[in-house]
Amino acid sequence: MNLPDLKQAQKRTKDEIKIIYDDYSVPEGMKNIGKDKKYFVKTYGCQMNVHDSENICAILEDLGYSETLTMEDADIIILNTCAIRENAHNKLFGFLGRVKHLKDEKPGIICGICGCMAQEESVVETLKEKYKWVDIVFGTHNIHKLPYILESAIKNDKQEIEVYSIEGNIYESIPVKRDSKYKAWVNIMLGCDKFCTYCIVPYTRGKQRSRLPKDIIREVEKLVSDGYLEVTLLGQNVNAYGKDLDIDYTMSNLLSDVARTGIKRIRFVTSHPWDFNDSMIDVIAKYDNIMPYIHLPLQSGSDRILKLMGRRYTKEEYINLFNKIKERIPNVSITTDIIVAFPGETDEDFQDTLDVVDTCKFDSAFTFIYSPRVGTPAAKMENPLTEEEKNNRLYKLNELVNKYANLKNQEYMDKVVPVLIEGPSEKEGFLMGYTDTMKLVNVECSEKYLGKIVNVKITSVKTWSMDAKIVD
Ligand code: SF4
Repeated sequence: MNLPDLKQAQKRTKDEIKIIYDDYSVPEGMKNIGKDKKYFVKTYGCQMNVHDSENICAILEDLGYSETLTMEDADIIILNTCAIRENAHNKLFGFLGRVKHLKDEKPGIICGICGCMAQEESVVETLKEKYKWVDIVFGTHNIHKLPYILESAIKNDKQEIEVYSIEGNIYESIPVKRDSKYKAWVNIMLGCDKFCTYCIVPYTRGKQRSRLPKDIIREVEKLVSDGYLEVTLLGQNVNAYGKDLDIDYTMSNLLSDVARTGIKRIRFVTSHPWDFNDSMIDVIAKYDNIMPYIHLPLQSGSDRILKLMGRRYTKEEYINLFNKIKERIPNVSITTDIIVAFPGETDEDFQDTLDVVDTCKFDSAFTFIYSPRVGTPAAKMENPLTEEEKNNRLYKLNELVNKYANLKNQEYMDKVVPVLIEGPSEKEGFLMGYTDTMKLVNVECSEKYLGKIVNVKITSVKTWSMDAKIVD
């Protein structure tokens, strides 16, 4: 048994990161353990978690399981958790209530918890003490060991907890079962060293470690040859890519090299304004297959709050960067993340945030009320705001964000734009996809357009989506 330790997880050393190409295997006795059985994987949180779940699904299929989208039909249920928001705890324990009910009816069901919450001491302590029936708990550092963790739990018939609070390595051989035939996630780096004071990620995912360029390019080239049209390069702070490598190679070098693979569309998330340099802007502007879409988290418009958050930029620096991106990348859309009611946020600080939204007129924004994460510095800060005040601020911010999102979308009315048609839409007779600028579009068309980038004419516009018809 290995339990998480947040203090240990916080440590950063100069130890070399190991890149391991052959650490994934399935023990002999586990090779057909899932024959005629089904797995169900539920994922919360960011794209990184979504991609981790693609690894978990592939591993379960290696064990012989096949996928079901109905939890009630599953023989093994894995919940891949997110630790970013407070209601994540409610989601986890609410979900476990449903699994317990199923397990009472069918005791052979195996239940596993993984992801960022599995890296939290208090969560694992609760699972150990009060949810002994949860069979396996594993963390973000040892997904590749899932066959062995499962084997121990089955052999010993007891709860198996294997969570490591380490800086982490890079495992190159974990299999992946991609959700889409057209779009793929590609990790370019893992972990984060920024330690923003509200964020638990540097504790749950280890230190910043960039994959080698050759391994990333090889993965993208394989995707191109398999017919994929779009890749999203993933990392907690992609602009810092390469800083930990002992070669002179940065995110702008990587973007150029990925662009030259010929993949039709390249996106990347998430950017930190601190590391967003001019050469990156130039590269995005230069290549047609790097999409003109940037998610640039603001978090707050108040210099005082940005400092308390440990964000390392000022409101002015953010706006300057925003303007530079707008000037140099034609047709770019920019979205953001904003936290309201951070500890100590006054009415003036909140007004500063509204002012930046008024200045930048973002295409869209993910907005949140601050929620404390145990173990982070911000969780110890005083926050005298009432729930009502917090909700009022969020409401006011959302009104402004929605106003600009709608206005930005209105600019698309009657325009012809390229959309990658990727799947069913909620609207009957329509399929859905995204523009190069990451606008959600419902396109009136038949399934023959699935997996194609087509020009569509926008026929109606709402705040969060648009309708369109094919023009070619
Ligand atoms: S850069 Fe992002 S992932 Fe890293 S600590 Fe800050 S908010 Fe968290």
